[in-house]
Amino acid sequence: MELYGLKQGGTTRQRPFYIRRGAFFILEKKKRKIKMTENRRHVSLETELAQAGNRSDEDNTKSISAPLYFSTAFRHDELNSELGPCDYSRVATPTRTILEDVLAKLEHGVQAFALSSGMAAIQLVFSQFKTGDLIITSNDLYGGSFRFFDQLTSHYGIRFELWDGHDDAALRKLCAEKPKALWIETPSNPTMKVIDIHKAAETVHEFGAQLIVDNTFYTPLLQQPLVEGADIVVHSATKFLGGHNDLLAGAVMVREQKLADELAENFITTGTNLAPFDCWLLLRSLKTLPLRLRQQEANAQGLVKVLAASAQVEKVLYPGHGGMISFYINPAIDVEQFLLKLQVISFAESLGGVESLITVPALRTHAEMPETQRLALGITPNLLRLSVGVEALTDLSEDLKQALAE
Ligand SMILES: *Cc1c(COP(=O)(O)O)cnc(C)c1O
Repeated sequence: MELYGLKQGGTTRQRPFYIRRGAFFILEKKKRKIKMTENRRHVSLETELAQAGNRSDEDNTKSISAPLYFSTAFRHDELNSELGPCDYSRVATPTRTILEDVLAKLEHGVQAFALSSGMAAIQLVFSQFKTGDLIITSNDLYGGSFRFFDQLTSHYGIRFELWDGHDDAALRKLCAEKPKALWIETPSNPTMKVIDIHKAAETVHEFGAQLIVDNTFYTPLLQQPLVEGADIVVHSATKFLGGHNDLLAGAVMVREQKLADELAENFITTGTNLAPFDCWLLLRSLKTLPLRLRQQEANAQGLVKVLAASAQVEKVLYPGHGGMISFYINPAIDVEQFLLKLQVISFAESLGGVESLITVPALRTHAEMPETQRLALGITPNLLRLSVGVEALTDLSEDLKQALAE
């Protein structure tokens, strides 16, 4: 079965345990105790997700729900025994291994890393760069990424150049300066600009640079950057993947094993990983991702019509898919009054969850972006960003209509 008209499959080489260096860290694939589903005939992503974690405890209880192990240490059989799948939980823990296997499949990567937040995921990706390295980024970024890149410049001398996301000639000119990577967010936050991932990958690869995509807004159900040629995908799993406004998490998925091994070194050393219970929660959330996203997208498409028909809305920005909408309300309307009138939709940051949330990027998520850049991108005080949840469409549209009514 096809999900959102996207290709299924891809070859996820299962490799849940990191190559561990040194006397105590031996990769022992044959002794793996966590049996996954590698011999199962190919199934669609929707099935893969619904069954996430099932059949992961075949040698023990055969539980349907993935087992949750809190243990930080795992006993050895004898002094010189080769290690089992886990010895210390910063390096690997069964619940995280099960999750990472599903995350890798989801984005068609060879390996995935589950981290304590989206920002931790971004930090992991940047652990490969050094002082003096040049990174190109699209100019319309998540506020936290923008802040982090600023710190990387002031603390570590990593250089950044901005690209508008469309002009290929401009990208080539920037690439002539030998950047290590191009970092993009598409659709962008909050102005919903869409970048052609395939084309960007072709261009930067010509110059030997990586393409890294923050796929938080669309999720792998709507867009699969690794299949399009990107090298690394990053998620704030706090958003659509977690989807319940109750879990802070991040993910990194990688297309090639060599790069995954490099990142693994930093990952297992720094311990930015996701804790076992949060891994279990994310695993549970992923089971319903397709259902949630379908409802969020259908609701969003309905609300785009409502907003476009309102005399109080100047312009609606919707990339055509997904659950995120931005819109400009009539500048004569008091934004605070509008937000206070909402009874179903909540004025709060974050996005992608089952509860609808609305925010004012210029004052909240993008407050730290320099004003000139903000205005140049169209992030004005009357631009609102709406994350559409799974509530009944009629309730959401009535809520917006009554708040917009004079
Ligand atoms: C929220 C978000 C992040 C940061 O993720 P956290 O889980 O909050 O650390 C990164 N990128 C995008 C696009 C986001 O929306």
